[in-house]
Amino acid sequence: MSKVIIRRADEGLREIISDVFDAFGVELQGKKVLVKPNIVAAFPPGSGVCTSPEVVEAVVSEALDRGGDVVVGDNPGGVDRSSYATAERAGIVAASRGRFRNISEQVVRVPTDSPYTDEFVISRVVLEADVVINLPCFKTHVLTTITGAIKNVYGYVAGTSKARLHLQAPSRRRFSEMLCDLYRVRVPDLHIMDGLLAMEGNGPTHGRVRELGLILASDDGLALDATMARMMGIDPASVKMLAIAHERGLGELEEDKIEVVGEPLRPIPDFALPTSFSASPAEQVVILDKLGKLVPVLKEERCVACGDCELNCPAGALTLDPLPVITADKCISCFCCVELCPEGAMEVPEGVAPDLFDRMFR
Ligand code: SF4
Ligand code: SF4
Repeated sequence: MSKVIIRRADEGLREIISDVFDAFGVELQGKKVLVKPNIVAAFPPGSGVCTSPEVVEAVVSEALDRGGDVVVGDNPGGVDRSSYATAERAGIVAASRGRFRNISEQVVRVPTDSPYTDEFVISRVVLEADVVINLPCFKTHVLTTITGAIKNVYGYVAGTSKARLHLQAPSRRRFSEMLCDLYRVRVPDLHIMDGLLAMEGNGPTHGRVRELGLILASDDGLALDATMARMMGIDPASVKMLAIAHERGLGELEEDKIEVVGEPLRPIPDFALPTSFSASPAEQVVILDKLGKLVPVLKEERCVACGDCELNCPAGALTLDPLPVITADKCISCFCCVELCPEGAMEVPEGVAPDLFDRMFR
């Protein structure tokens, strides 16, 4: 049986974080502690993209008070941004009480039996930490449907290695399998999910933001993600990443194996899922997927021709001429260009269901 705590943030963040540490028996005195927020890209506080500064500040303060030797860090998405500049824009440097580090600078190569790569190039601090505290966000994701505790460990991977892994595991199923391989390298000790804001629709960067006002926590990342999925109105078993994690024994998925403590688990009314997700195998959608290529669509009126998408495309499928042009044959439908466009100018095509495409054809 796993336990997930759901608390209303207006009860006081510090008090909640303290209760969470006690509930899961997290000892920090004299320990090296890595606090791992989600710093996906350079978006400001309030955009619902990165972990909220107030959550980071509360966790860091509590961990310091409990005698932890704290480092805060993440490897943002994209290949051309320093993690410091990205974290500063997200308000996380200021929230880290002097403990923020550019963890991308020192990396280790970890051998793996993953079918997609021989090694993961990850930040050294991940393996050196006695305690890893994961701070995912309550968000949807156009590729993996949700981004939560398990997906947030993709930030272990440093620099350009992220793009390489997208290329080596180029579908929802393969990418989800690779994520589970990575998660096993260092399973975080505690997951505290920022649910102050939720992102619905086409997350993780350009969905709609909703006030939620919750903190969720568990020492079982899969149970936490499954609980988030249920609140979003999704059957967790239909999320490939979670189903694979469950098959591999990485935590609990089923409702009767997860004890929810604090606030009740209530589905959020009318929560919008990514347009790239469909849990029902409608034949016409499958046919449409098979015939169509899942290539992102450019909204020209929003594009400022900054070139970030060209830099971040792992497949070399995208060039600026002068606006982005995608070579469909090269595109692997990873949606990195959608996720990392600062203007929200790249969109997932409407009416497609890559999960069904993956299930049937890849
Ligand atoms: S689509 Fe986005 S990332 Fe690409 S050039 Fe236009 S604004 Fe920049
Ligand atoms: S064009 Fe976009 S979706 Fe296609 S491979 Fe490049 S980054 Fe991925």
